[in-house]
Amino acid sequence: MYMGEETSLEERENWVTLFKSLADGHRLQIIQHLLLGEHRVTDLVEHVGLAQSTVSTHVASLRKSGLLASHTHGRATYYTLAYPEETKALLTAAKAFFDGTEKLRQTSQPESTSHD
Ligand SMILES: [Zn+2]
Repeated sequence: MYMGEETSLEERENWVTLFKSLADGHRLQIIQHLLLGEHRVTDLVEHVGLAQSTVSTHVASLRKSGLLASHTHGRATYYTLAYPEETKALLTAAKAFFDGTEKLRQTSQPESTSHD
């Protein structure tokens, strides 16, 4: 848990891996479906409306980053979130962040600053 102290390089690299794996609209869409329960790739293809190859690539990527787990039942592979509560908390935190920045924008209208 992040407590405000300086993190180690290794820990920051883990964050980078996690945030990179979240940094795709289609992968976020897949994660949102998996928050509702387990899915096969064919279910995800049907629910998110993407090509099977695209879904498979995203699922493999999410698995590699440790966000997804899978189990087989008969000949089918079912995907689930490896850490559903933590993943949900992460997305809830993101929503709270956007709600907060939205309030800030409404009250202070900060001027954009240039770093050139
Ligand atoms: Zn679904």
